[in-house]
Amino acid sequence: MKNIHSNIYRPNYANLKKAKKNIENNNVIGLPTETVYGLAASAYSDKSVKKIFKLKKRPSFNPLIIHFKNLECVKKDVICNNYFIKLYRAFCPGPITFVLNKSPSSKISKMANAGKKTVAVRIPKHKVARKLLKILNVPLAAPSANISSRLSPTSASDVVDEFGNQIKFILDGGRCKIGLESTIIDLTHKPTILRQGAITSKEIYKILRKKIAVIKKSKVIKAPGQLKFHYSPGIPVLINKNYPRKNGAFITFGKKFKSSKNHFNLSKKNNLREAANNLYKTMRKIRKKNYKSISICKIPNFGIGRAINDRIKKASYKWQSK
Ligand code: AMP
Ligand code: MG
Repeated sequence: MKNIHSNIYRPNYANLKKAKKNIENNNVIGLPTETVYGLAASAYSDKSVKKIFKLKKRPSFNPLIIHFKNLECVKKDVICNNYFIKLYRAFCPGPITFVLNKSPSSKISKMANAGKKTVAVRIPKHKVARKLLKILNVPLAAPSANISSRLSPTSASDVVDEFGNQIKFILDGGRCKIGLESTIIDLTHKPTILRQGAITSKEIYKILRKKIAVIKKSKVIKAPGQLKFHYSPGIPVLINKNYPRKNGAFITFGKKFKSSKNHFNLSKKNNLREAANNLYKTMRKIRKKNYKSISICKIPNFGIGRAINDRIKKASYKWQSK
């Protein structure tokens, strides 16, 4: 059944088959994953991939994450190394993306990899994404379903918010469990985290028993997550603050700040996972309420807190020291 207000579809068998037809017809659909919603299309089709770049207004040099159903399918397009196999066993399916070398016989669209010789590989855990991948014969190119540099969507209605009627078919998988984009780790040389996420460098270290580098600043942009200005709600964002600006909202964490009409608490229980899950949803809510800015209190910088700080720092980039 179709949701009467939009292009959102319940993920029953009939609609999964419709989603499959859409992918086979080179259309782009909205797809839930455990991290954020994606704009998904066949990774083997230039025509489909081109549509994703156009919809997202994404620069063509920024490659897309490719979603696979299992290891067997990954092996068709990618050269798997030992690091990957160990991490795959520990974390997949799950919220982690691996940059690996593309195999010479790969059918993945060159455009999807932005002409690179590497592929960003993800095996998502969300059951709707898994069900769809299971009935497809192709992997899915699926970047986050937002216009480039904006907030990622964490519910089906956020995708409508971003694209209106441009995306005709969105599978509804409810609110994303994690709510922040996947951890990205480059495994083509020494393991290097390109983007922080729910799976932390500490957890990865425990599996590989090897120092895990974390990219801070890079001259060569390997991932748009590394671009300085990203994850923006479209209004000024100010971090490490103790109060809001005039006509602004204040995002808090824990019990330090009292509640007030313009205060939005990410987690009263001091729970960073809950805070990560509420971050984008809260920023969208604040923007819709027409506040003119968002001030954010200091967020603890450990565990998934590092990913939260990475996102809010980038969202605030234009307004730092102003
Ligand atoms: P998104 O799907 O919008 O969260 O963004 C996908 C992220 O994966 C971006 O930061 C991409 O630049 C990154 N990515 C995709 N493919 C590669 C690759 N081959 N090498 C490095 N980063 C990649
Ligand atoms: Mg993105």
